[in-house]
Amino acid sequence: MIKSIAVLTSGGDAPGMNAAIRAVTRTALSKGLKVYGVHDGYLGLFKGQIEELNRRSVSEKLGSGGTFLGTARLTEFTDIEIRKVALRNLRIYGIDALVAIGGDGTYRGALALSQMGLPVVTIPVTIDNDIAGTEFTIGFDTALNTIVEAADKLRDTSSSHRRCSLIEVMGRNCGDIAVATSIACGAEVCIAKETGYDLEAILDNIREAAQHKRHAIIIVAENIVDIEELAKTITKKTPFEARATVLGHVQRGGKPTVRDRVLASKMGVKAIEALLAGDNHHCMASKANDIISMPIEEALNGDDTAVTLKEYEVFKVLW
Ligand code: ATP
Repeated sequence: MIKSIAVLTSGGDAPGMNAAIRAVTRTALSKGLKVYGVHDGYLGLFKGQIEELNRRSVSEKLGSGGTFLGTARLTEFTDIEIRKVALRNLRIYGIDALVAIGGDGTYRGALALSQMGLPVVTIPVTIDNDIAGTEFTIGFDTALNTIVEAADKLRDTSSSHRRCSLIEVMGRNCGDIAVATSIACGAEVCIAKETGYDLEAILDNIREAAQHKRHAIIIVAENIVDIEELAKTITKKTPFEARATVLGHVQRGGKPTVRDRVLASKMGVKAIEALLAGDNHHCMASKANDIISMPIEEALNGDDTAVTLKEYEVFKVLW
């Protein structure tokens, strides 16, 4: 029987992590469980950086960005000896189960712990929306809003100067950020892993835009092309002068949107309910406006590329 749980945040931070910790903590306390927070993800689990949490520990956290527990990357967590130390630390505190909040790497670490006998549930928090099985990850919506706000500002200035703005966004393995923001800011071109990269088609789109607009926007997912080089080519081969902007880590920060706060809260509640119902290697997922609990393996082995491409079709119809 589970009497005591630990919660941690791991991998890349994203807005909504604090809201998820709060929901996990308060739900678990309301069910009579003891709750511990682990600092700095699996690194803190290995080092034994664990403290008890109460209702007040998570006050004033719902709307704040980042993670008050801290996060870290520990590549050595793939080593079973390191994980044995982590499990020993949990035993010292009498902790029976773990809620791990993070992206797919965090899921892999959680699955490895569950295979060693620890009941684990995970909550998908990453701005990339790159976890299969869940329609949305926590943090995605906030990042989209940050990007669209920046793109709107860049449009103002590029329109004044008759320019093309290239905006590099995060999401190297999943084009959801690029596609959704391209739709939301009416971009001329969207370049992501799933959409392919056709330079001549891009130049044609930009030349076409130049005939009737004072600006053009290209959204590019990171690690696909060198946007400085692409900007030079566009300047040379189209009527627009092109400028490249890399948004970088600003996309990970900020207060979570209402949508992310609500999603984090619902998933936090469901995570504890699932754990107490006997789910012990499961992840939370949003599906058809509901939160479901599914095996972590299913999420790690799934592929949502078709969903991304369907959204890209919407972009292509509207640009
Ligand atoms: P993001 O998607 O935002 O980068 P993430 O959770 O995918 O977040 P990672 O750095 O990939 O971030 O993973 C977080 C941590 O999970 C790693 O630093 C490592 O400690 C652990 N981890 C990742 N893969 C494994 C694995 N195969 N076995 C055990 N632990 C793992």
